[in-house]
Amino acid sequence: MKFPNIGDIATKSVVSIDMKSTFNEAMSKMLENEHRNIIVKDINDFYIMSIIDVLNIQTKEVNTDIPLCDLQLFKIPTINKDKNILDTLEYLNNSIEYICVINDDNSLYGLVTHTDITSNIDPDTLMDNYRLQDFLKLGRRMKWVHKDEKIVFLLKDMVNNFYDNVVVVEDLKPIGIFTTKDIMSLIKNKIDLDVAIKEYMSSPVDSINKNSSVREALAFIKERHYKRVIVIDDEGSLSGIISQKELISLTYSKWAMLMKEYQDELSEINLMLQNKNIEYENIASTDALTGLYTRHKFFQLYLSSYTSMVQRHNYMSLILVDIDYFKKVNDVYGHNAGDKTLVQVAHTLLKILRNVDVVCRWGGEEFLIMLPTADMEHAIFIAQKLRVSIEELSIDVVGNVTASFGVSQVREGEEMQDAIDRADKALYLAKDSGRNCVKCEMD
Ligand code: GH3
Ligand code: MG
Ligand code: MG
Repeated sequence: MKFPNIGDIATKSVVSIDMKSTFNEAMSKMLENEHRNIIVKDINDFYIMSIIDVLNIQTKEVNTDIPLCDLQLFKIPTINKDKNILDTLEYLNNSIEYICVINDDNSLYGLVTHTDITSNIDPDTLMDNYRLQDFLKLGRRMKWVHKDEKIVFLLKDMVNNFYDNVVVVEDLKPIGIFTTKDIMSLIKNKIDLDVAIKEYMSSPVDSINKNSSVREALAFIKERHYKRVIVIDDEGSLSGIISQKELISLTYSKWAMLMKEYQDELSEINLMLQNKNIEYENIASTDALTGLYTRHKFFQLYLSSYTSMVQRHNYMSLILVDIDYFKKVNDVYGHNAGDKTLVQVAHTLLKILRNVDVVCRWGGEEFLIMLPTADMEHAIFIAQKLRVSIEELSIDVVGNVTASFGVSQVREGEEMQDAIDRADKALYLAKDSGRNCVKCEMD
């Protein structure tokens, strides 16, 4: 059985870029070509950057001049373009749905997806790729007789064994066919049956080589209005006989068997794709360093909280937090210590806030908190509590840090950005008033 080669089903319109390029260059190339993915080549390995990765990286507000090698891109498996599609079935277990198709010299040829592979294994493909000999191997019953055999003996055998046709051979080569239709005319014409079959067989016969595909055999049968086809080997000797009905039903049942065989794998793939979607969703909504929500997720949560505030005539407030002199923390103790500080501050915020409150990493060392049901007074109280907790926090290596707070209460009918702007103004006031304090929009 032969399936198409991977090179035949691969998408060749792929954009690629060298690992040494920057995120910005990759993004421009994707946009320019309107591609959702770009292949990143690194010496002998291939990585993929998808539009989801781009969004994810952008929400992190990373400098877009960052080299691609500094991003954690997914490495994708590779396969030679001349490999058969069946050789790729094991790849379907991989959680990356793409496979890079490469030339002999390891250069990029194209890209295939798991779906490309599974959708190419269908009955139609089987018809093109099954050879007649694959079916003859299934041990079909075939009756053949020598041309000198007497019709009278043959008839008995046909009746006893339910044959509706026999192939007549000479030196193993098919020279004629004798069917129930021929018997009918013999009886009708009251012909003596004690004669050799060669006298009344239909001759000559058309035959087809056993290396022909099922599709070729079906076309052959259709063209000549036959019901069946005689199959011969390269020497012209009889290999078998196969009917149109058998060709079609065997192809479909083979396909069904194959699909059943890979059903488990296919459902596993489905599950994996679903999990991957969840994973992507998580990546896009969680800040990698602190585990807090991203801006992107904050927007979504804000909208649903805002709707419920309006419906229930309730309150809602925002607190914008910015660590004081954070640049110094980095300068004095290093970037790693800075990162650890951010994590500890984030955890402190989470520890004090309620489950219904939402806290996101708004920017580098800024956090935005949404307090559903809280009015300004309550929000200021919470902000003070957070301020004291951060001040009292003892951070490894760094020691103590402080933060400034800007509070605003969300007004009905206003855009989210307006409420954030007012919190930002208040934060600016807090910085201006010497830091480590809480200010609100009215101050
Ligand atoms: P201010 O009190 O006025 O807020 O001063 P500041 O130094 O905190 O403010 P500024 O905005 O000048 O500096 C913020 C610094 O935060 C600069 C940047 O290098 C650092 N930063 C941003 N994101 C990260 C991060 O993910 N990790 C670390 N370690 N530092 C970060
Ligand atoms: Mg800042
Ligand atoms: Mg700061």
